Amino acid sequence: MFGSSGIRGVANKEITPGLALDFGLAVGSIYPEVAVGHDPRVSSEMIEHAIVSGLLSAGSKVVKAGMVPTPTLALASRDYDCGIMVTASHNPARYIGMKVFKGGMSFNTKQQEEIEDLLEKKRFNHASWERTGNLGAMDSALEDHSEAILKNTAGSDLKVVVDCGCGAASVITPYVLKRMGCEVLTLNSQPDGSFPGREPEPVEENLSLLKKTVRAAGADLGIAHDGDADRMMAVDNMGRFISGDKMLALFAQREAKSAIAVPVDTSKVIDDILGGVKISRTKVGDVYVAEELGKTGGEFGGEPSGAWIFPKISLCPDGIYAAARLVEIVEREGELAGLVDSIPEYPVKRGAFACSDKKRAMEEIMQKLSGLGEINTLDGIRVDTGDGWVLVRPSGTEPKIRITVESKNRCEELYAEASGIVSRAVA
Ligand code: MG
Repeated sequence: MFGSSGIRGVANKEITPGLALDFGLAVGSIYPEVAVGHDPRVSSEMIEHAIVSGLLSAGSKVVKAGMVPTPTLALASRDYDCGIMVTASHNPARYIGMKVFKGGMSFNTKQQEEIEDLLEKKRFNHASWERTGNLGAMDSALEDHSEAILKNTAGSDLKVVVDCGCGAASVITPYVLKRMGCEVLTLNSQPDGSFPGREPEPVEENLSLLKKTVRAAGADLGIAHDGDADRMMAVDNMGRFISGDKMLALFAQREAKSAIAVPVDTSKVIDDILGGVKISRTKVGDVYVAEELGKTGGEFGGEPSGAWIFPKISLCPDGIYAAARLVEIVEREGELAGLVDSIPEYPVKRGAFACSDKKRAMEEIMQKLSGLGEINTLDGIRVDTGDGWVLVRPSGTEPKIRITVESKNRCEELYAEASGIVSRAVA
């Protein structure tokens, strides 16, 4: 039931109030005090109310944080037995879902399985009528998160354009940057769950307005978030979108002291620029990166998709802190374009193919790919071809199969070969 980042599906079709009620009952059967928050999606409050009802029925004390980003709720959840965030992150508007946190970090596999088990068997603890839970509100979550960020960042008078994508970041990122001293220009910063300005995923094709605005305004940088603001991507002072691998390298170079964690689809650039730092590679999904950081005590972890984890703040990817930290870096070190250009880049090509039967397709892909080189199955299928690597894996959140190819000298060719295999398998 849990994908790589919680439970997710189309609202009122896969994720119904009935399922949400059961989910609340399951969580409430284990955790007596729960913080709940939601993003601005059209269906968020419908699902949140059903979850809260389940929690109360199980006898839990529930505290609502309101419309907040995921990292804000994750931070607030540290004062409770767990936290539930109602969000579908970067997915299109029709989706909804829930992510669960304990101690500021996503539920691990064992904690997820406990909930799944209760859901499957419908074994819930309905409290007796006089012991049903009570409901309260917390109004300090945004301020507490802002304070935690401001305490860890220096001031700046840079000019920054922020594109919140009409998501949850609208209520925090522009204000935090303004309090740092920045001149802030905003785009799509009215929360709106129909996402009228752009799709919520902060990928380059959705950020043309941000690129244009940074150039037109002569800004020092541009920031873009996904729907629940655990992700952050950026545009440099020349209006160029910065790739995920470069962003990862930029942060890692400055945060890493002894160890970092990255998923298997990360560029080998990171190995070449971080001498002496232990680099753990994990399954794809920020929850696995966070789990690894929890184990190794590493100083930084991230995913090229835009999820940056700074354990000094929390083990939940934090797009708002990442934005503040990037501003601080540019303030200290000078023009972002220059910093970005100083990082080497190996040709990487990524793609995705719609696929309804991922299991069957992956079996066929496995057979065909094994002819290309040495196979590794930590997550999906990774083939090392000697002059590069190919990773093919089913998406944890969508009916898609994703391909990543990196090769210094024959990226296009390798991509054509691998994507040919995948497109035939999904047909
Ligand atoms: Mg997200």
